[in-house]
Amino acid sequence: MHMPLSADQDWQRRVMERAKELDHQHRRRTRGLWQSTLGLALSLRFLRTAARQLVTAPRRSEPRRVGHPGPGQIAVTFVGHATVMLTTPLARVLTDPYLGDFFLGLRRAEGACLHPADAADLNVILISHAHRDRLDLTSLRRLKGRAAVLVPPRCASLVDGLGFARVIELAPGQSFEYADVEVTAVAARHEGGRGLFDSAWRGACGYIVRSAGASVYFAGGTAYFSGFEEIGRRLHPDVALLPVAGYQPPALRAINMSPLDAVQAFTDLGAKLLVPVGYGSFPLGYEPLGEPLRWLRQICADRGISDQLAVLGHGETCLVRAGSQE
Ligand SMILES: [Zn+2]
Repeated sequence: MHMPLSADQDWQRRVMERAKELDHQHRRRTRGLWQSTLGLALSLRFLRTAARQLVTAPRRSEPRRVGHPGPGQIAVTFVGHATVMLTTPLARVLTDPYLGDFFLGLRRAEGACLHPADAADLNVILISHAHRDRLDLTSLRRLKGRAAVLVPPRCASLVDGLGFARVIELAPGQSFEYADVEVTAVAARHEGGRGLFDSAWRGACGYIVRSAGASVYFAGGTAYFSGFEEIGRRLHPDVALLPVAGYQPPALRAINMSPLDAVQAFTDLGAKLLVPVGYGSFPLGYEPLGEPLRWLRQICADRGISDQLAVLGHGETCLVRAGSQE
């Protein structure tokens, strides 16, 4: 007998169908390549990229101070990799600070761009998870001071003792307030561990930053998952800062998103502006450094949503207000 699906079952079925469709599209894109020893070709290309970067100094942009915006606005400044500064009328928030030029022996292609006066003026620092490109002790020591550092569950011990006013663990669903900013932690699909030799089970979070009606979602590190639709339905972010790199070889899609995954996440969220992050600095996957952005631009053009994509250069700022952006 045919039983009608409940609303919840129907939602689960739709999410599974979407994930399967994404898998199918990724397989179609790489099928021919994998059959012709793509694995070996990709690793050789990765090594060549890493070696070339070692002897090439990072490109640098001149950092400019970012002023506090007017009421109801948030200034979104791309610092580099997954580091973004959010400036509200009364506060400054920085995500996953990585300010150095090297990561595990890899030299970055473009230097972090953050004015020292703004770096000294931070109120809240958000850490999405304990991977070393997101929770970087050297960068945090440079920023120590009066800021509160928000970390996922079981990560506070890594930051305690670095010299911050407060270190607070936020689990998904919990919030923190400072001046005109409210930060709410949300779920992410990622591994939370520090590295191969870290046996602790650590959490991984995204964050919604809200100020006077305008809101920005920093997804942290995450694979595509059903949580995007729920985050969109419950918290209605205006802007989505989504990671778009580290998707080759395909097994990495268990923890990271490709541009195709990120555009589906953006659609699920119902956000108005997509700002890609986490690409172009370090080769963290086997894909070429410039590929994520090229592919993302192509997808957005094909779907007629290029006007909803904001690719920010290092140090570049865009202004967001509730329900829109400039
Ligand atoms: Zn990670």
